[in-house]
Amino acid sequence: MFSFKHFFVVMVALFGFVGLAVQSDDVSAAQTIKFTSEMHTNKNLTYNGTIKYYVKGDAKKYQANLDYAANRWNKALGQKVLRKTTSLTDSRLVFTGTNKLASGYAGMAEINSGVIALNTSWMNRYNKQKQRAVIIHELGHTFGTKDLYNYPDATLRGVFKKQTIMGGNYSTNIRSFDAKLAKWTLSKTRSMSPTEFSHYRSNKGLYYQQMLHGQL
Ligand SMILES: [Zn+2]
Repeated sequence: MFSFKHFFVVMVALFGFVGLAVQSDDVSAAQTIKFTSEMHTNKNLTYNGTIKYYVKGDAKKYQANLDYAANRWNKALGQKVLRKTTSLTDSRLVFTGTNKLASGYAGMAEINSGVIALNTSWMNRYNKQKQRAVIIHELGHTFGTKDLYNYPDATLRGVFKKQTIMGGNYSTNIRSFDAKLAKWTLSKTRSMSPTEFSHYRSNKGLYYQQMLHGQL
């Protein structure tokens, strides 16, 4: 399988456990999974409860699938967290299509300055379903959720890989576990102030900002 990767500053020591059942493909074995601090980072991309996203020219060809993925999350979360904007400066998240990502990555989410970079060499080969799955996965990081395919516990890691968005299961079906985890990580992570966010966004020396400004 092709790895997804996030690019986070991870410095979390929050804890708190919420029990819930994972919907299992196995008809008889519904497991109870606890949410742990290993599942979230320290911040999310929301501002006033929303994440305004902007689609750069080089990602316009994926626009329909981007909007689809955003709508799926909004429905799953029960509120319109993701909203489209045509203003780059008004956005907290920019989608860009690039061939500069390492070849093993279909997409990356950079939370500091709010960029989701989609690897065009994979995206252009993927069918609609897989493109949507990649985008849904990367959007999961904007809520502060980590990659569950890296989860420390090997048994759970195996379950997550098969059954969850953040485990990289290539599904476009946001299950109850995925939605509850996203809501939980939103509650466990913080929003950036406009000052903090613009500090990152305006730093054109950062890798993803160079990408956005056509310097890479
Ligand atoms: Zn990921």
